[in-house]
Amino acid sequence: MVTLEKVTVDSFEKVFPLFEDSSELIIPKKYFQRLFTKYWDEQEDCLGYMLVNEDKVVGYLGYIFSKRMCNNKSYKFCNLTSWDDGTITDLKLAELLEKYGIKATFYLPKFIDNSLQRKDIIAIDQKFEIGAHTLSQPDLTKVSLSEAKKEIKDSKEYLEELLGHSVAMFCYPYGTHNKDVREIARSSGFIAARTAEPGGLDLPKDPYQWHITLFASNNSPLMALKIWWRFHLWKPGALLDWENRAKSLFDLALEKGGIYHIYGHSAEFGRTNEWDKLERMFKYISNRDGVKYMTNGEIFEHSPG
Ligand SMILES: [Zn+2]
Repeated sequence: MVTLEKVTVDSFEKVFPLFEDSSELIIPKKYFQRLFTKYWDEQEDCLGYMLVNEDKVVGYLGYIFSKRMCNNKSYKFCNLTSWDDGTITDLKLAELLEKYGIKATFYLPKFIDNSLQRKDIIAIDQKFEIGAHTLSQPDLTKVSLSEAKKEIKDSKEYLEELLGHSVAMFCYPYGTHNKDVREIARSSGFIAARTAEPGGLDLPKDPYQWHITLFASNNSPLMALKIWWRFHLWKPGALLDWENRAKSLFDLALEKGGIYHIYGHSAEFGRTNEWDKLERMFKYISNRDGVKYMTNGEIFEHSPG
């Protein structure tokens, strides 16, 4: 007889063979296991449900999103933001994020003009997550493998030495990567790596090709078009302006559930004088019932440190 049972942390070994059967399984077992910690789930008394047939788990429905009610129906949704490059404008960005209670991951290279100082990086680390972004931001698909290795590995060591704890997340400069580069990110000990490719509202099939939902910028019309098309936004305003796009996508994510992940560069807001726009967007997406605000690394494990 098939029964429906609640999934708890202890159910992992029983449920895991199901993931293994899936031909799309790329995430290593230990990272799947982290999804079974109570992390996601302060509001639930279980991690989902499994169908059990004679002691064998034959189906699994996981709860990984925070819960919200919308039109009398319950939805699961979480919110992520990530910000690249570690310039001094990140301080203003961190202030705004804090003001609106939005979590974030800052991806910092070692060498960049107008860089944050060590003390700034340490201060940001207290409230947000810091991820690695190579030493000098080369296009990793255009340098030699040994150079790519050095850029990736050493950026992890540099930040870990500075912060005094492990750094779990990596982000590819320019979002460019290939199989070799992804393998270096994995073998260097990062649990996942973020790209700059817009994708759906779901978890990545491959944690080393982690898509975003939206780029907070009008500098990439092609990406704007891709997002507009992919999510069927169909309002001209959402094609022409990122603030409009960010709000429309947020509404969509609220309605459907999933992971809403916005990324950008604080240096750009200074150049384009878009701080007001950013603040309006933060205000719009902040303090919503049922939305869980998380750093990138919290998807897979507790924030390091
Ligand atoms: Zn960058």
